[in-house]
Amino acid sequence: MKRVLLLIVCLSLFSCNTKAQDKKEKNTAKAEFPITKTDAEWKAELPPETYYVMRKAGTERAFSSDLLNIKEKGTYVCAACGTPLFKSEHKFKSGSGWPSFDRAIEGNVAYGVDNKIGYPRDEEHCAKCGGHLGHVFDDGPKTTGKRHCINGAALRFVPEE
Ligand code: FE
Repeated sequence: MKRVLLLIVCLSLFSCNTKAQDKKEKNTAKAEFPITKTDAEWKAELPPETYYVMRKAGTERAFSSDLLNIKEKGTYVCAACGTPLFKSEHKFKSGSGWPSFDRAIEGNVAYGVDNKIGYPRDEEHCAKCGGHLGHVFDDGPKTTGKRHCINGAALRFVPEE
């Protein structure tokens, strides 16, 4: 009987330890971006639509963004942390209903894989704060062949002075 008890104690200790390790790994994964905030902090500081897109990997309604038809010269920066992400000269009319660019500002955008809708898509996020931006597809214009399909709610437009 004592042996059985000892075994149970050992097993439960082991499983607790595994959970603690999982937690530690998750925390480390979060800390890979230079800017880290808790979910509650992001929720408190971002407009609801931006929070939904950037922190919950949501997608805004097609053709709903005010940035869609902007043609002025300038830079599109991260709506959460202000990092420059896209330039106006790389914007093109894709007809998709989301602001589209043939390239990002190198180094400021990072990529991952998203299987949310049943097949893998290249997800892109801000390299500084980790906020979700949209996806990149291989059906872009001849210039690069890429179509960065970005939620306007994840961007802020800064006109050139
Ligand atoms: Fe950011």
